[in-house]
Amino acid sequence: MDLQLSSLVQFLPRVGPRMASLLHKVGVETVYNLMTYVPFRYKDYSLVSPIARLQPGETVTVVGELEYIRTFITKHGKRLVMARLRDDSGAIDITWFNQLYLTKILSAGDTLSVSGNVAWFGQKKVLSSPEYEVLRAAGEGKDSLHTGRLVPVYPETEGLSSKWLRGRIAFVLEQYLSLVEDPLPGQIRAAHHLPDLRKAIQTIHFPDTLDDAAAARERLAFDELFTLMLRSQQQKRLWKQTLKAHAMPLSAALLEEFISRLPFTLTSDQSKAVNDIITDLGSSTPMNRLLEGDVGAGKTVVAAAGMFAAFMNQHNSALLAPTQILAEQHAKTLRLILEDTFHIQVHLILGGSKKTTIPPKTTVPAIYVGTHALLTKAEKLPDFGFIVIDEQQRFGVAQRATLRDQAKEDIVPHQLAMTATPIPRTIAQTAFGNIDLSVLHSLPKGRIPIKTWVVAAAKRDAAYEWIKKELRETNSQAFIVCPLIDQSETLTTVKAATTEFARLKKIFSPLTVGLLHGRMKADEKTDALTRLHDRKTDILVSTPVVEVGIDIPEATIMVIEAAERFGLSQLHQLRGRVGRREKPSYFLLFTENETPEVINRLKALETVHNGPELAELDLKLRGPGELFGTRQHGIAGFAIATLSDTELVAEVQRAVRDLTDKDPDLSQFPHLRERINESKIEIIQS
Ligand code: ADP
Ligand code: MG
Repeated sequence: MDLQLSSLVQFLPRVGPRMASLLHKVGVETVYNLMTYVPFRYKDYSLVSPIARLQPGETVTVVGELEYIRTFITKHGKRLVMARLRDDSGAIDITWFNQLYLTKILSAGDTLSVSGNVAWFGQKKVLSSPEYEVLRAAGEGKDSLHTGRLVPVYPETEGLSSKWLRGRIAFVLEQYLSLVEDPLPGQIRAAHHLPDLRKAIQTIHFPDTLDDAAAARERLAFDELFTLMLRSQQQKRLWKQTLKAHAMPLSAALLEEFISRLPFTLTSDQSKAVNDIITDLGSSTPMNRLLEGDVGAGKTVVAAAGMFAAFMNQHNSALLAPTQILAEQHAKTLRLILEDTFHIQVHLILGGSKKTTIPPKTTVPAIYVGTHALLTKAEKLPDFGFIVIDEQQRFGVAQRATLRDQAKEDIVPHQLAMTATPIPRTIAQTAFGNIDLSVLHSLPKGRIPIKTWVVAAAKRDAAYEWIKKELRETNSQAFIVCPLIDQSETLTTVKAATTEFARLKKIFSPLTVGLLHGRMKADEKTDALTRLHDRKTDILVSTPVVEVGIDIPEATIMVIEAAERFGLSQLHQLRGRVGRREKPSYFLLFTENETPEVINRLKALETVHNGPELAELDLKLRGPGELFGTRQHGIAGFAIATLSDTELVAEVQRAVRDLTDKDPDLSQFPHLRERINESKIEIIQS
């Protein structure tokens, strides 16, 4: 048989279509996938003890001869398997529940190795439902897999057990491990004290010690990060070499003119970001930059500077927003900054029931702000020299490509993506390594930090009273956010918000309470927000769909229900929707879960008011999956590497740099190049 690492697991002995489909569920398709399906912990069955010395409470392995094995029916009618195992020192009873088939597999006289916990059963010591394996006669025996050692435990799914996986993984290691080529150059392995790949793969499954397992894991984590970083680095290089954009330089005098006409002074982070962008635009290498800043940090004006440069160079700009409300908000801001002052036309392009008339193409460049409609109507629009995408994770890769690809003659527009999602440094360096980053760390002056309190269940009623009083006295508005129970807006969530809505209407009467959730039609949503904006609603009860970046100037209070279900940075983003003016604002975190971990985690928000810092905390406390909706952000596929390991990330980064300084296009490392092209781990592409 032709052995290949890329062979499908389905055709391995004892796998077949049913097990293959279970493996598929956990992401395993090929022999190599199976080989690198890593355990998440080990059971320590390495203590082998004579039977006479067993102590209740111990986790041990014993080896002996089976005296008998039979089914037994208890007083309560439960059926179980009873057996007795004997060695030179004595004998012990074994019980297995729900495994009646064992009487068919095992028989008296077999030599067994048995691992599990010793417990009392009445007056007697027993081994209860231990793992077992039959030891073959000397000479023909294999190493034990399930007993007498550190035994790997894998992420399981219904029908896919660790025991079964162990057997199949041991099989593929035996048959296929020698085919694995180590793509990591020897000098990097030596410099970073990494074991070779074959050894690491073997050891992560069947280590002798936990230290060996840790070293193997580190090697595999290193590889994962290394591949990801190298790939984004190579991609950046490729872009720079092959793609071209129009150079749109802006003189210092004109930039000065633009800045001096703004209705406010830029923060130093804003000035820096503006300079980054103007510099990028001045070159014929296409810009691929991400502007990160909390809600309210003032990203739009930074983008406007780029649009100004495009205009001065006779090019059109586009701003793509995820919702109609945000598109309208951006258009308003841009009109203020660019239309009123510099007479640059801003067109709003919307879809749905709002009929938008597309302005005829002219030779005078303009700015087009819109929703998806910008994409569907792209043909009727002029070419763009500069595109800005707000909250780009809300758009698919293909959608974003639409705007870019209408450009002619291999000239692509410069691109700026904007996001309020804080990105921890490690992720910026890895998954986003191909993108340049500008960060607005601080909010414009004059904003007061939002007072944040974690509110325990006992204080709930008092809190409602306080809110009522505060809203009346200061003539303000409030949001009450109910958690998203599922990944997406489900009926259960909607029901939770709807029930809560009915309850709160009573509590807050005579104040008016409105409702907003993701299952409402676009027009109904807009209507609910318009009522809030026009002050016809005092309190809006909603699911977390409250539009990113929505600007309700008089909203000063936000309440979060079941706050423990949210990540810290998600909470921080919600918090950004209040406190848009100089009035004192409040963020109340309700929770019924009063365990110290939960309370302490939430309390971080009382003192930390910085998005990236909270994102780092999230990453430490809950891992990367929590922080990003994984797939859409393109950091899915990390099986091993922990992005919270800043030291490892820095080390890998050094390794990548050392390698590419010497051999920029990896001509001496064909395996590595192949590996990069095959890698399943996605990186952000704009
Ligand atoms: P976001 O980063 O959430 O997109 P916006 O660009 O919508 O923020 O800006 C939020 C508000 O702050 C807008 O009303 C904008 O005009 C204002 N703003 C932006 N920069 C400054 C500044 N440097 N000083 C004062 N106000 C500012
Ligand atoms: Mg915004």
